[in-house]
Amino acid sequence: MVQSSVLGFPRIGANRELKKTTEAYWSGKVNVEELLKVGKDLRAHNWKLQKDAGVDVIASNDFSYYDQVLDLSLLFNVIPDRYTKFDLAPIDVLFAMGRGLQRKATDSTPAVDVTALEMVKWFDSNYHYVRPTFSHSTQFKLNGQKPVDEYLEAKALGIETRPVLVGPVSYLFLGKSDKDSLDLDPISLLSKILPVYAEILAKLAAAGAKTVQIDEPILVLDLPQKVQAAFKQAYEFFAQHAGLPEIILATYFGDVRPNLAAVEGLPVAGFHYDFVRCPEQIDEVIKALTPKQVLSVGVIDGRNIWKADITKAIAVVKKAITAIGAERVIVATSSSLLHTPVDLSNEKKLDAEIKDWFSFATQKLAEVVVVAKAVSGADVSGALEANKKSISARAASAITNDAKVQERVASINEKMATRASAFNARLAEQKKHFNLPAFPTTTIGSFPQTKDIRINRNKFTKGEITAEQYEKFIESEIESVVRFQEEIGLDVLVHGEPERNDMVQYFGEQLKGYAFTSNGWVQSYGSRYVRPPIIVGDISRPKAMSVKESVYAQSLTSKPMKGMLTGPVTCLRWSFPRNDVSHKVQSLQLGLALRDEVNDLEKAGVYVIQVDEPAIREGLPLRAGAERSDYLQWAAQSFRVATSGVEDRTQIHSHFCYSDLDPNHIKALDADVVSIEFSKKDDPNYIQEFSEYPNHIGLGLFDIHSPRIPSTDEFVARIQEILKVYPAEKFWVNPDCGLKTRGWEETRASLTNMVEAAKLFRAQQ
Ligand code: GLN
Ligand code: ZN
Repeated sequence: MVQSSVLGFPRIGANRELKKTTEAYWSGKVNVEELLKVGKDLRAHNWKLQKDAGVDVIASNDFSYYDQVLDLSLLFNVIPDRYTKFDLAPIDVLFAMGRGLQRKATDSTPAVDVTALEMVKWFDSNYHYVRPTFSHSTQFKLNGQKPVDEYLEAKALGIETRPVLVGPVSYLFLGKSDKDSLDLDPISLLSKILPVYAEILAKLAAAGAKTVQIDEPILVLDLPQKVQAAFKQAYEFFAQHAGLPEIILATYFGDVRPNLAAVEGLPVAGFHYDFVRCPEQIDEVIKALTPKQVLSVGVIDGRNIWKADITKAIAVVKKAITAIGAERVIVATSSSLLHTPVDLSNEKKLDAEIKDWFSFATQKLAEVVVVAKAVSGADVSGALEANKKSISARAASAITNDAKVQERVASINEKMATRASAFNARLAEQKKHFNLPAFPTTTIGSFPQTKDIRINRNKFTKGEITAEQYEKFIESEIESVVRFQEEIGLDVLVHGEPERNDMVQYFGEQLKGYAFTSNGWVQSYGSRYVRPPIIVGDISRPKAMSVKESVYAQSLTSKPMKGMLTGPVTCLRWSFPRNDVSHKVQSLQLGLALRDEVNDLEKAGVYVIQVDEPAIREGLPLRAGAERSDYLQWAAQSFRVATSGVEDRTQIHSHFCYSDLDPNHIKALDADVVSIEFSKKDDPNYIQEFSEYPNHIGLGLFDIHSPRIPSTDEFVARIQEILKVYPAEKFWVNPDCGLKTRGWEETRASLTNMVEAAKLFRAQQ
């Protein structure tokens, strides 16, 4: 029998149990025992689910209370000093490192005030990991034995598991050096960390684990020579250690071939590769195996929600079997299932036709098992027939295909994607119409999403208030936000986005071609989960989506009002995309739908329009080269398709955040004004890079993730610093991002101080 294997299962629970209990623990409503019990129950439930589905190789240590990379930092004692001096319980150290901790002093304990470690996106996913932070004083040693405990926990339930750990080379490479040790290159710590890895591996072996899965996902990145060489050092070190479990070295999310030389011949039991993302690599990776090495063939997508094409998956696995024999092949998910929602059967409201096309984590278990059975010669004809029927129904469905949209995409030309005049000519027109002062002030769009807003939205969704009542409520919110902005003297106003639950979902719900789940949560970071909408078919806009609110807001003021839209790339990236059509085509379809909206806004008298693209950086392909330049080309083209239908006088804004943005990546968007997250960027070279950006920019002046209120002096100092390298005539004044997660008190104070500072500079002009 060919074995089936799952690289990891979502840890959040079918009903977000982990989030609910973790947040209750943070707010002091449940105690640590309760939290640990919920974790234990979730693990048991997930293992049993996999076992019952017939999965042969089940992962353990895939569970985490916050993040699996952070767990390793705790396990290996990679804990900066600032977290250790309060005598916190281990789980509180974990949370303090993940999200910071502020606690008042009590009779017996001192006050605690520590910021969180940096959090970064996990490869090209929307999952964030907590970045290991090393310093010269880092002392690797084992702190506890979480992987062993969880292995034994499963064993006690009668379930044999394969523990999973992020590997040493990836762990170091994904980390960074702390402020006080900037000369330290994390990869240079390899020889120090290897013995500690070996120690935990030996403990796993002693507990009975025969095999471990070691993840080295960085193998799909462009790697410096030094890092490539580190694989040999690491895995030969383990091989020389007697008594360790066998190692399956796993990588995913891309093509390993450019780094194949770094792993070829390593003394490990086998490799796992992702053949969903890169089926083309199969011949070469097979050739690179030594005679006894096993190949774990990732054919069930861990990153998306589509039912697998089982026939195709079987063909890939058979190829491997023909080459190396069934006993050396494992059928697997492409990556951990962490990035997929838990269970489709919880979806009660999905249209039956569409629901039949999906497969969430629980359903994917059955898919892996069916493929393994099929290649072992078992009769799976029933399942196979049903799968074929579903796949062809989707391909032929009227929901999937819209000839009009396809024709429209085919007719996109350069003229449609180019503004009528170049930036300087547009700017001259815009100056005439808006007559803005120097250092114009604005915000990024959203204002605090208060409890009152959420309550009213809920009532409306549940039918407890009428559409008319809800509309009146939204209008009153818009009005008070407009009055506030006038009162403190902002120059370009926004309507505050009170009608939006989420910046992608809000538009997705109004577009044709989208579907929504009611419980399709996926972990984004810590206790923050997202529920990405699903692109199921060709996208179009049946009717205007935001015009009513923007026009109403503009009617309240003589100052310019910004229309506010989410850009095509961000709509694509923060949804589950289709897998039957390229990302480029989906992005262009979104661009066309947004073009209609932008044009309608202009027609209705809204002459400043912001199209947000915060996800543009995260979509960048993992490796440099043709795919990356192609992406940048179509990402910019989609944006320009959306925004080039307007007259010169209409000012197009865009906004970017959550990343180290390269100004070269956004030039081709040709927005008149961009705003970017910037308050934590201190590197003068970085400001310099942006000063060469041709159009106008607002470099974000305060952090919206924190309730802290910067004083006017602080704003003045920051503006002065930026002005050393950045020209005043291009300077816009704004926060880092939208204010929806902030309270009103700090919003009012911060913005007032920001506007005051802008006025001081204006007076000097
Ligand atoms: N306009 C959006 C807001 O202000 C932008 C959010 C974002 O960039 N993430 O909320
Ligand atoms: Zn933002």
